Amino acid sequence: MKAGGPGSCVTGTVARPAVLDMVIVSSGERRHRIRSAVRQLSFLRGTSSEDADAMLAAREAACAHRSTNAPDGTELAAELGRRPRLESVQTAGFSPQTQRLWNFDRTTELELVEELLFQLAEFVGVKSLPQACVKALVERVASCYQENTYHCFTHACDVTISAFVLLTKYGGAEYLCPIDSITLVVSALMHDVGHPGNTNAFEKQTQSEIVRAYGEDGTYERMHLDVAKRILSSADCNIFKAAGFSEEEQLWALDLLEYVVLGTDLSIHFNVMHEWQAMFARTTAVEGGNRDGKGEVAQASCLQEGDLNEEMRKALVRMMMKASDLGCCAKPWPVARHWGERLVEESRRHEQDESARGMTTSTAAIPTGSVTHTSQHQLNFHLKIVNPIFAAVVDVLPPFQIGMAQALHNTENWKRMAEGEEPVAVPDL
Ligand SMILES: [Zn+2]
Repeated sequence: MKAGGPGSCVTGTVARPAVLDMVIVSSGERRHRIRSAVRQLSFLRGTSSEDADAMLAAREAACAHRSTNAPDGTELAAELGRRPRLESVQTAGFSPQTQRLWNFDRTTELELVEELLFQLAEFVGVKSLPQACVKALVERVASCYQENTYHCFTHACDVTISAFVLLTKYGGAEYLCPIDSITLVVSALMHDVGHPGNTNAFEKQTQSEIVRAYGEDGTYERMHLDVAKRILSSADCNIFKAAGFSEEEQLWALDLLEYVVLGTDLSIHFNVMHEWQAMFARTTAVEGGNRDGKGEVAQASCLQEGDLNEEMRKALVRMMMKASDLGCCAKPWPVARHWGERLVEESRRHEQDESARGMTTSTAAIPTGSVTHTSQHQLNFHLKIVNPIFAAVVDVLPPFQIGMAQALHNTENWKRMAEGEEPVAVPDL
């Protein structure tokens, strides 16, 4: 059996983090542990100060436990040093349901992503995750993102958080091995690394250096993957090795990383959706996505634990990656609108660059900046791409129907604005 296969899941005894309170010995117990962990992870449950206190206390306890092997208390001191920043993230109202816009400084973004990786490692039962490696990896990745309007490190943070939430709050980790979950979040963090803020079509049209290096198909995605693999191959950033995964699992992780990063290329979106339909029994609309997100979706997953062979695990991780990449569309309207407008703004800048060069625009579908055109573009994007992907995820992870419902409300608002009407306030679902 190939490394990372269902039989090779890392389910051995782990050091006992207080936040999870677990010892994993079987997949059944792992499932139970994950469910109980979801209930404990205040990180995911909104913003009450009680939740924040509970999380921080749990983190301190977990850290104190780990620091018993660090006589000088270095690790504990470092952990406590993060507390103020994490607390500020909590009190600033960060959560998938928050209506506030993201406005954290870079240092806080780095701390937050590092914290997510530690929490995920504990969540899936990874025995150790050296802080130095996590810090080096996150900082290296951040330094390789460009300051684009949309495809920037903040977008990477947003996608990483969405992946983390799909795995934890919405139960995705129940169907995966630990190496899959870690790889998904690492992929989310790195999936747009090095993005220059243009498009594959632009690179092809200009026969740029990037096209010459990476080819005309999935140009950026192949570039992101190349940069990601180079970062991961450096000794101080090899998180898969540092986390204690076997060599076979490390190879599996790199294969999976390639599969999901290349899968974010929207030019192959319909192929990906057709492959998904062929693989998973329940029908998911490839185009349309007209469910209301409340009453028409099944309450049970179309999967049973243990159902997934390796190809299905890869497909599930890829679909969760695609959904995470579009995660902002499942957030409350002010946040979703903010990201939608940033994407259009980046595309418009690119279009102006093309015009200045006397080129035919490669983004004819991108509007000229009017509210109506921007909204029509976003409406089409939701109907053809976003909602079908979310519907596919809901089939496997029914709790995500709350995200689907939010996305459908946002779709309605884009439709209203495309028709010249005002958006309506969307209730916090
Ligand atoms: Zn992206």
